[in-house]
Amino acid sequence: MKILIADDESTIRKVLAKTLAKEDYEILTAADGEEAWKIYDQERPELIITDWLMPGIDGVELCKRIRGVNREGLQPFILMLTSRDSNKDLEVGFNEAEADDFLSKPWHRVELQARVRVGARTMEMAQKLERMALTDTLTGLYNRRALGDLLRIDEDRAMRAQMPLGICLVDVDHFKLVNDDYGHHVGDQVLRMVAETLKGCVRAGDHVGRWGGEEFLMILPKADIIQAAEVAERCRATLAEQRVRTDDGHVVGVTASFGVASADGASRPEVMDLVDQSDKALYWAKDSGRNRVKIYVESADPDLQRRAS
Ligand code: GH3
Ligand code: MG
Ligand code: MG
Repeated sequence: MKILIADDESTIRKVLAKTLAKEDYEILTAADGEEAWKIYDQERPELIITDWLMPGIDGVELCKRIRGVNREGLQPFILMLTSRDSNKDLEVGFNEAEADDFLSKPWHRVELQARVRVGARTMEMAQKLERMALTDTLTGLYNRRALGDLLRIDEDRAMRAQMPLGICLVDVDHFKLVNDDYGHHVGDQVLRMVAETLKGCVRAGDHVGRWGGEEFLMILPKADIIQAAEVAERCRATLAEQRVRTDDGHVVGVTASFGVASADGASRPEVMDLVDQSDKALYWAKDSGRNRVKIYVESADPDLQRRAS
């Protein structure tokens, strides 16, 4: 866990760092609010111990800025050090700065260690909850909610970098038969195998998640339609070779159909339209015999043809 210590007095920074050195923390230090803000922006420490009074950006202002940049994300734990302990001051720190805890100077070493430990545990719990909220329990992949967030983040990145963004929807073929023939338990085992296979076939920086049931979504930053189709074809071929061995000795394999779309440069459909396009291509893949990759092309889209005529 990263801890940022912000205090304009170097002795205080040293004492704090030394007190916390025995535990397994990575300590960063800043000599004023401005530096703390810069370090926060780059390193995103989970826990911040900040002095109240500092030249330039003071502790309250630092808190406000930090709270302001991540209204939606996970908020770091902020422990404010203060030599002021009038109720009025605490109220400002509590209400305006939204600090999580206060410690008056001078503090007792054990009290500091205890407060920091509570902060670290709080953050660990919050991180765990966030991971759980974004994870599909069966496969360990991103769930649909996480994919929704990632789609927006990757769309923003692709726009800013003027890079293509590839999307691929995957649907297991005749999966209902697996459940019918071998039972739901084996069905689950097969879904985990599909998840592993897809994840193993993509690059670092690509995202694979479970879109629902036996459908998966892959987000492929920087992939134009050809590259996205290549990734999909690699996944398709690899999956077709995989087998799952059931507890009672059956050997089960599945295939899947893939629909690919990409926004590259010139035309920039919104990311949810891209998902719709890959859904159409997936439907074409199913319709033309399954176990294949189809790419979305506007000229092949009957909906657009109809609208144009
Ligand atoms: P198609 O090739 O047209 O996609 O046929 P399909 O049988 O795969 O499609 P269909 O939508 O008819 O059936 C999907 C099945 O997936 C039905 C549902 O019970 C099963 N399923 C969805 N989620 C799970 C799950 O978490 N575990 C298991 N074992 N089965 C699931
Ligand atoms: Mg389906
Ligand atoms: Mg299916």
